[in-house]
Amino acid sequence: MTFTSRPLKERFEEKYIACPMSGCWLWTASLNSWGYGNMRGLDRVERSHRIAWQLYRGEIPLDLQVCHKCDVPSCVNPDHLYLGTQKQNMRDVSKRDRHPKTLLTEAEIKRVFELSHEIPQAEIANLYGVDARYIWAVLNKKYRKFLSTDFVAGHVKKIPKKDGLS
Ligand SMILES: [Zn+2]
Repeated sequence: MTFTSRPLKERFEEKYIACPMSGCWLWTASLNSWGYGNMRGLDRVERSHRIAWQLYRGEIPLDLQVCHKCDVPSCVNPDHLYLGTQKQNMRDVSKRDRHPKTLLTEAEIKRVFELSHEIPQAEIANLYGVDARYIWAVLNKKYRKFLSTDFVAGHVKKIPKKDGLS
């Protein structure tokens, strides 16, 4: 008997964290340059939102694509996914710029790091109204990758400096 790798679903479920504000399941493992998650599937590496669909919804018809209702490429929440044509998928991609902020801003994340020396993570979470696991992920730098991809463009807007403002 050769070593059997752990079930796909089990490996999948430890690679995302749920964002309490948007409900998105954000992929914390590898992302491609478009912000989509990657994962080793049964026989090859595949986009993680496609794996999500197959795990929770079923087969993906050959002529359809798995698209995001939430416009967050790294999201793998099956409730945020739908089957669409290539045309629909392209339209979704082009809408992405107009989306509201769903995560902490870069400035807020900086503040989270400062606060982590002073108060417990659970309190920081309360302060920002987010799940403690999200704070944990931020502090463990699992969010660093989100700060350098296209994902950021639509979802983590930089706050202009307000120096001297009282
Ligand atoms: Zn989502």
